[in-house]
Amino acid sequence: MKVLVLNCGSSSLKYQLIDMENEAVLCIGLVERIGIDGSILTQKKDGVEGKYIVEQPMKDHQDAIKLVLAGVQDSVYGGVKDMSEIDAVGHRVVHGGEKFASSVVITEEVEEAIRACNDLAPLHNPANLMGIDAMKAILPGVPNVAVFDTAFHQTMEPAAYLYGVPHRLYDEYGVRRYGFHGTSHKYVSQRAAEMLGKDIKDLKIITCHLGNGASVAAIKNGKVIDTSMGLTPLEGLIMGTRCGDIDPAIIPFMMRKEGLDADGVDNLMNKQSGVYGMTGISSDFRDIEAAAEKGDQKAIDALDAYHTRVKKYIGSYAAEMNGVDAIVFTAGLGENGIDNRMAIASNMEYLGVKMDAEANNVRGKERVISAADSQVKVLLIPTNEELMIARDTLALVK
Ligand code: AMP
Repeated sequence: MKVLVLNCGSSSLKYQLIDMENEAVLCIGLVERIGIDGSILTQKKDGVEGKYIVEQPMKDHQDAIKLVLAGVQDSVYGGVKDMSEIDAVGHRVVHGGEKFASSVVITEEVEEAIRACNDLAPLHNPANLMGIDAMKAILPGVPNVAVFDTAFHQTMEPAAYLYGVPHRLYDEYGVRRYGFHGTSHKYVSQRAAEMLGKDIKDLKIITCHLGNGASVAAIKNGKVIDTSMGLTPLEGLIMGTRCGDIDPAIIPFMMRKEGLDADGVDNLMNKQSGVYGMTGISSDFRDIEAAAEKGDQKAIDALDAYHTRVKKYIGSYAAEMNGVDAIVFTAGLGENGIDNRMAIASNMEYLGVKMDAEANNVRGKERVISAADSQVKVLLIPTNEELMIARDTLALVK
């Protein structure tokens, strides 16, 4: 059984073709600048030199997906001889609101429900729907499955998901905390249980997904009880360009001081903030670290603030769960940021966390990075959202 995994953005599309017999990635690709001048598709195949590149106008997602399907059938860089070998398509869908607590086979009704969440994820859900519609048109009869970023967090109780605002905002507009990166938090928490040889139902795990977007989740007995992102992915940690938690009074303050409207302040908080805004250097932590090493005070302060915020969430989630058995680091910075992991997880002996500097001195490899006598295990686990999407897709269409 072969599953195509699609992750559609407004002008980009990431894809992987996975053979579910052995969960091997047959090929992996990226389409950029859909609907913009300079559309380009790049595809790679493990073990094959070079890249499959298509540069031609792609006016919409349907154009792009037609080229993706040609790519996956390429005799050198592809993974199937014929489109009929693709048994199902798994779509990453960002927002499932309260409607979806797990993945589903896409029907007209499901599409309608995804559309109903457009207001909550205006940049993402419409793009995800474009991918679904294009796939239905090009490969009719092949089942499409939606895997939601929000679904894994639907186990949160009102205590964790309600904001301290008038209840009617929740009743009328669905204003509550939803959480994101659920597919990643689910994957790494399950892997953590496997690596520790324990049943996830007996564990309290804190998963730190630290990428360009970043979130932390508290997972007790296999269920999310809290997570740092909220109604949108803006809440929580300081991120590449997003501010994370701030005093909400800063919003009207900035609007008055700088004459900003709602879009202006949204842009300021989502695109001009985070470590990028704090340093004026970059949203990439490698650039910030390089600047900090040269003594740039803003870079030093931004890194300290970033690490402190993660530490704060770990402490609060340990409090919420009445303890913690394992802390997991994943995503770009979590997998590769050796010093970052150390800065976050050191000086936590009060919690029973003791890092092993040597074990931690590694990038992108699955391993335990805490000391042998650390009461709380700290693990580095590269995330694999595509595999999780493919597994859910397989389970639903089998
Ligand atoms: P992601 O969103 O998961 O792809 O993560 C991307 C982020 O990971 C980048 O913005 C970088 O800041 C960070 N990152 C990737 N590699 C490294 C590295 N070697 N050291 C520190 N940060 C890294």
